[in-house]
Amino acid sequence: MAEINFLRDFAFAYGIAETLSPLIRRVVARNPSPFTFKGTGTYIVGRGSVAVIDPGPALPDHVDALLAALAGETVSHILITHTHLDHSPAAAALKRATAAPTLGFGPHGATRSDGAGSEEGADRDFVTDRALRDGEIVEGKGWRMTAVHTPGHTSNHLCFALDEEKILFSGDHVMGWSTSVIAPPDGDMNSYLRSLAKLLDRDDAAYWPTHGPAITDPRAHVRAFIAHRHERAAAILQRLAGGDETIPAMVAAIYVGLDPRLRSAAGRSVLSHLLALIEEGRVTCEGPPSVAARYRLRLAR
Ligand SMILES: [Zn+2]
Repeated sequence: MAEINFLRDFAFAYGIAETLSPLIRRVVARNPSPFTFKGTGTYIVGRGSVAVIDPGPALPDHVDALLAALAGETVSHILITHTHLDHSPAAAALKRATAAPTLGFGPHGATRSDGAGSEEGADRDFVTDRALRDGEIVEGKGWRMTAVHTPGHTSNHLCFALDEEKILFSGDHVMGWSTSVIAPPDGDMNSYLRSLAKLLDRDDAAYWPTHGPAITDPRAHVRAFIAHRHERAAAILQRLAGGDETIPAMVAAIYVGLDPRLRSAAGRSVLSHLLALIEEGRVTCEGPPSVAARYRLRLAR
């Protein structure tokens, strides 16, 4: 397998605003899990008049810590990378307390409510006051950010590039501690790969993901993720060539030593690869593709 240099050294304290750079502070919520690492990192950008990126889960302690960190300051923008329950729900409480508008790509994408695909959970209550499109600029006092549409983890995922410090807030699109969960129907592997390639054309100095530490060699990291997904697709094609037809069989063979709590996510990830391979005409499925369906290689004629 391609070597991914996972970054899991993460010095932080829950509920305290830490200064990370002249313009960036972060408060980490106490919602650790196999999907959130140590918890959600809510970023505060600017001084005096600030933007908040990903207010986080609706945990009263976290909202209190955030408001304490913001005492004496004005929140001019609430920015949302995507509508998962560990990212956007606290926007409601923050908006009530500050009257700041919410900005994001839009509501959660997939209409199908599919429990099996929502390990992180979709926040279907979230509404943006201002919908952002790819390349749109958001400006505050002393800072300027560009929205970068990066569908894949979710269809409405945005990264935010802070011009002054050449930092990309990468949300769940690119993280140091783990690969991203690509769970259909809203998660889409081919979109994700295109969104990774899109970042290679940029010259961000570092990424600050919503979970875990900063990535200081971002392009090498992105290239490793792309290679990793190509290898996984190759492994799936190999299992199909060897006679595996079901996702559970492929998961058991490919994800050796997997944390059992992540088995269902691994199944969704294999499904996302199979959907991409079907789209490319390399794989067929009996009936509608799902975790329970049967798959075969499409033989060249
Ligand atoms: Zn997410």
